[in-house]
Amino acid sequence: MTVELICVGTELLMGTVVNTNAAFMAERCVALGLDCFYQSVVGDNASRLEESIKQAMGRSDIVILSGGLGPTEDDLTKETAAKVMGKELVMDDKAWKHITSYFEKRGLELTENNRKQAMVPEGSKVLYNKNGTAPGIIMEGDKCRMILLPGPPIELTFLWNEQVEDYLKSLSGDVLMSEMVKICGAGESKVETLLKDLIDAQDNPTIATYAKTGEVDVRVTAKAKDEKECKKLMKPVVKEIKKRLGSKIFTTDESVSLEMAVMQILNENKMTLTTAESITGGMIASRLINVPGASDVIKVGYITYSNKAKRKYLGVKRSTLDKYGAVSEQCAKEMAKGGAAAAKSDVCVAITGIAGPASDASNKDIGLTYIGVSVAGKIKVKEYRFEGNREKIRTAATTAALTFLRHCLLENLTEKTFGE
Ligand code: ATP
Repeated sequence: MTVELICVGTELLMGTVVNTNAAFMAERCVALGLDCFYQSVVGDNASRLEESIKQAMGRSDIVILSGGLGPTEDDLTKETAAKVMGKELVMDDKAWKHITSYFEKRGLELTENNRKQAMVPEGSKVLYNKNGTAPGIIMEGDKCRMILLPGPPIELTFLWNEQVEDYLKSLSGDVLMSEMVKICGAGESKVETLLKDLIDAQDNPTIATYAKTGEVDVRVTAKAKDEKECKKLMKPVVKEIKKRLGSKIFTTDESVSLEMAVMQILNENKMTLTTAESITGGMIASRLINVPGASDVIKVGYITYSNKAKRKYLGVKRSTLDKYGAVSEQCAKEMAKGGAAAAKSDVCVAITGIAGPASDASNKDIGLTYIGVSVAGKIKVKEYRFEGNREKIRTAATTAALTFLRHCLLENLTEKTFGE
């Protein structure tokens, strides 16, 4: 079954709003096993929108539109889609009741044009929207189905999760299941190279890789008559992926993040942790503290941005700073050692680097970063070179620190050396 996305809004065309709805919907459609061959963006213009809808209807089984369901004159999606589908707009009492109570609860004044949002194409299925006023709509024609969703991402994702996903699943008689293999410490191209023959030969299950900063997700999706059959199809493929990627896989549970996986290792081994951060300024601690139960593990989070702070709180030697500079292997080592000692923790992750846009007095490269990890007195330091702007470098450095911390913990706990 083919699905096509049309996102409506002049602000999308002009680039003032990033089209996150398209990315969200496309990813979800692919995960549902739907073929997504076309996507387009159309401004708030009735005739161009009509043309786009007609073209999409001519080549796709399902057309999903987002945006343009608001109360104002330039919100044309519903009117245009209904016209193309040959449907009249009629008042939906439930939608109107919802809109009036939404305004009342917030002490807002209703205007006449809000009635427009309660008008729906005759015979359509209405998707009531708890997060806003515009309901979503499903229209079923002889050849094509059409789904209209509001533009604000919070409303669109809510309706999608609550109703659209089940509707799309119900269209195909098959059950679709997927398993996610999450990887750290290997880039997307490396993962794809390692899995190339599996990816090339994929059919059912399918294998898709998604790169994030410092992480790669591999989604294995099977389609079959029931869950049991899906699991049977996925099992050997997931097993093979696990075999090839080994310890780089930090979880096969979609809901588990890298920081959760790290915290789980620390928790299970009753280890306490200290963070000693310079370039990331607390980002490592923040990600770890997002995980419930962090208070049992994290003892102290030092942000030692200046040389003086590195000396005062972590005991980094003045001579080390003078000789090698703050962004150096030696400094990262002393930060990791000093952080663990100062907080009396089993483990310390330390990081020092240059986030840019300007280099420091030593003129070292922007992005140069050293991460040090001390586990039960054993210290390892690794050099990294990140690219991008300040924000990108700091985000990548944070993920790399969590990855290296996990790596050092596993090495220490298993006394095995894992290749990186
Ligand atoms: P409303 O009832 O709020 O007017 P609507 O369905 O008419 O909703 P639009 O007016 O098209 O939606 O968009 C509302 C806001 O939603 C936009 O200003 C933008 O911030 C966001 N938005 C719209 N489309 C997208 C998109 N494709 N991706 C990300 N954000 C979007």
